Amino acid sequence: MIFKIRLNWLLTLLCFLAITLPAQSGNLRVMVFAPHPDDELVGCGGSIAKHVSLGNKVTIVYLTSGDAGNIHFKKNELANIRENEARKGMQLMGVNNLIFLKNLDGYLEASGENLVKVVELIREYKPNVIYLPSPDEAHQDHKVTNDLVSKAINKARGSWFQEAKGEPWTVKTIFAYEVYPLLKNVNYCEDTSQFMELKLKALQEHKSQLESMAYDDIAKSKDRYRGILNYGSQYAECFDVLKISEYFQK
Ligand SMILES: [Zn+2]
Repeated sequence: MIFKIRLNWLLTLLCFLAITLPAQSGNLRVMVFAPHPDDELVGCGGSIAKHVSLGNKVTIVYLTSGDAGNIHFKKNELANIRENEARKGMQLMGVNNLIFLKNLDGYLEASGENLVKVVELIREYKPNVIYLPSPDEAHQDHKVTNDLVSKAINKARGSWFQEAKGEPWTVKTIFAYEVYPLLKNVNYCEDTSQFMELKLKALQEHKSQLESMAYDDIAKSKDRYRGILNYGSQYAECFDVLKISEYFQK
């Protein structure tokens, strides 16, 4: 009888490990959409680093290259500078898969052309988890990114959207991140204390932006505020969960 009980315990433990191990060992594909280079770091840089540490595959899609972010440069020049800053920052984070869609900064539209591009990317990379800016963001490009990517997620799952190549794909988990202003509706916070230093180092690669505003201080203060209020930890990143049916294990 004792042996039987122990055997049952063992079987239960093995089932538990079989269920939880895949996420821990890095089976998730994560896709992050950023209106401008650096938004992904401010909004969810700690979570990106956490995914990388778990072995999950992260891809960042930049909708614009932020060519309007510094008046001292010509637009083409600044786009190149900011793409390089993004590459350097993400290299520190261990993310090499960056996609630049090169829309004009300040003029992003949820156009049919952009929709087809984003649907094709979702169908190609098959992300389990997507991060995108909240619809309540103040910057117009951030709002449009939310609108565009939300529509693309919806269209990617159906066979009826034949303009875009690829097999239909359903995204199971969607997080809306905050840059500015802070989210009103927070329903998930991730403890990112362990990755704060790395996030700041990556953000400090965006030198063209730090000249005009201390975005690194903004990100640190935001995450500290979230850490104290919402998580009881040193630093945290908080999200509005738009959909959840799978996520990594802590
Ligand atoms: Zn931005």
